[in-house]
Amino acid sequence: MHSEGCLICGEELVYSEKKEKAVCSVCGKDFISDVRCPKGHFVCDRCHEAPAKVVIVETCLGSEIRDPIELAIGIMKDPSVNMHGPEHHLLVGCVLATAYHNCGGDIDLPAAIIRICDRMSAVPGGVCGNYGCCGSAVSAGTFISVLTGATPLTEGSWGMSNLMTSKCLAAIAEVGGPRCCKRDSFLTLMTASKFITEKLGVEMKCEVPTCTFHERNRQCLGKRCPFHP
Ligand SMILES: [Zn+2]
Ligand SMILES: [Zn+2]
Repeated sequence: MHSEGCLICGEELVYSEKKEKAVCSVCGKDFISDVRCPKGHFVCDRCHEAPAKVVIVETCLGSEIRDPIELAIGIMKDPSVNMHGPEHHLLVGCVLATAYHNCGGDIDLPAAIIRICDRMSAVPGGVCGNYGCCGSAVSAGTFISVLTGATPLTEGSWGMSNLMTSKCLAAIAEVGGPRCCKRDSFLTLMTASKFITEKLGVEMKCEVPTCTFHERNRQCLGKRCPFHP
């Protein structure tokens, strides 16, 4: 398996405006998708994120790290986490919940991680460009929703969840595309840490990282990326 581009052959994936029938090369199930590799391979979101999901959940539940970026980078270095992909949608919310817990925040961590993974599994890969709403920002909003018990009918928690997503999304948008799941995760975790410290009264600090993943990213922004060495 490859960890960049097509997981089967490593070729750069092609995104088209038209959705077509696609059979997952891993689980064999039928899907309708607008992305595939030039050689015809397709890997569904569930199969793309499954190996990383186990690592994310196990690492978070066993971690005492308080800096969410340090925790995220440790998980991102595991070979199960691809350069890009919807596994980052699970990673960001779980890392925030864990760091919040380790910084003294009041949260039932195992229950929160299950809820975050469940909800974020509904957010497809490529949602950043296709919907104009990066999944890492949604994951930060989902963490606040889970933490505060927000629903479509609540008041303050509803506002706070959406505010978290919007602040992270603004930070991501200001740097511009194309996507990088590492850069967008770092921007989200930095913005979310500030938000949590200010709005929830749990002090959460994170170091600005230097990216060690850029050589695997064919679309790296280089000097335009705030984390590029
Ligand atoms: Zn391929
Ligand atoms: Zn599959």
